[in-house]
Amino acid sequence: MAINVQFFGAAGEVTGSCHLVTVGDQRLLLDCGLIQGGRKDEARNRDPFPFDPASIDAVVLSHAHIDHSGRLPLLVKSGFRGTIYTHRASRDLCRIMLKDAGYLSEKDAVWENRKRERKGLEHIDPLFTVEDTKLAMRQFKGLVYAKKQRILPGVKLRLADAGHILGSSIVELWLEDGGETRKLVFSGDLGRSGMPVLEDPAVIHQADHVIMESTYGDRLHRSWEDSYREIHEVLNDATGSKGNILIPAFAVGRTQEILYLFARYYDDWRLDRWHIFLDSPMAIEATRVFTQNTDLFDAEAAELWRQNKTSPLLPNLHISRTANQSMAINQIRRGAIIIAGSGMCTGGRIKHHLKHNIWREQCQLVITGFQARGTPGRALVDGAQHIRLWGEEIRVAAKIHTIGGLSAHADQTALKNWYANFEGRPPRDPCTWGRTGDHRPVQMPPPTALRSGAHSASG
Ligand code: ZN
Repeated sequence: MAINVQFFGAAGEVTGSCHLVTVGDQRLLLDCGLIQGGRKDEARNRDPFPFDPASIDAVVLSHAHIDHSGRLPLLVKSGFRGTIYTHRASRDLCRIMLKDAGYLSEKDAVWENRKRERKGLEHIDPLFTVEDTKLAMRQFKGLVYAKKQRILPGVKLRLADAGHILGSSIVELWLEDGGETRKLVFSGDLGRSGMPVLEDPAVIHQADHVIMESTYGDRLHRSWEDSYREIHEVLNDATGSKGNILIPAFAVGRTQEILYLFARYYDDWRLDRWHIFLDSPMAIEATRVFTQNTDLFDAEAAELWRQNKTSPLLPNLHISRTANQSMAINQIRRGAIIIAGSGMCTGGRIKHHLKHNIWREQCQLVITGFQARGTPGRALVDGAQHIRLWGEEIRVAAKIHTIGGLSAHADQTALKNWYANFEGRPPRDPCTWGRTGDHRPVQMPPPTALRSGAHSASG
């Protein structure tokens, strides 16, 4: 039989996950993510797909993160007419996240076109629009975990919990050709055991071929306990300082984890001394999706979440939906914990809160997630003395704290342990993306012929 896998992204880099599996005459795409990074990298999102989108029979999406889902609206716009299979929670999160990506793309195009006009250049179209994302959503089909089903002739699919974000899935595929069946496992992004809210990544025992992530294949994470102790210390120190605490947070995942941790340690961390503001319409919407899916939580989170219908149990949580509600927070000088996006301070309401707080030494900024190079969040972590907001140079006097251990990705040990669970005749050389170098087709050898390092695309 012939199974052919081609890697079109997240190979030699960690974004733009997109892999094409061909078995017999069926063509199946695993993920269709946006390339993220600097301007030059992101410009590649405008390149035509290296395959004909109309020739793809189906897509299986591992999870809602934009670097896995963000080019689906483009795929549909370019002629893909098949079904996009994913977990139902991923579908619901994609509705929010793709819409936001469409909105940002429209806004970027307006900004870019103003510049182009001044240079006498032609206008560009947005990469995709909010309307494009709505059209793409029509092709989604939401699935549940642990149910094996036929999705194409000769192709069966089952999703298992990857424990990375809500709805994230390890993709198990049974591929049949010429009377023979092979099992391909695609890890998607793998979470960490003990992560707040989510279950641990599912253990898979059998596969003929494995494609797995390796984002943190060269690193070990700090323990959860250490990270929680750091948050506790920041809260303690901040209490006497008569200022506010700002937490820039990603709307999906990190925000809900922080809310949950605040609820879980409400008494220990003396959170009754604070007013907590959730100031992000997107995070509020995402929190609603979490609330609808408490059956996917670990037991402790499910119990805590169920005690309150709309958010984890926090008596002093203020939900700030409108711009007026958000602006009202600017009047508060002390005692507020403000959770607002964007996670790297590149846009969103956090910029307004920075303007009102970052120059005051009584205030604290708590960074809880990865900060890419070139973002204001990264500059603050690196000790910038000033930041520019709407053309205004603002002094940085607030204390900056980085809580480094909250990553939603498995680290080196966890990746190795997850892979070690494959039993019987183990596929000894997983095709780890992030390590392979080019886009040449990879012909999967029969499992008995697998040799260590023998068939990665870069050789
Ligand atoms: Zn992810």
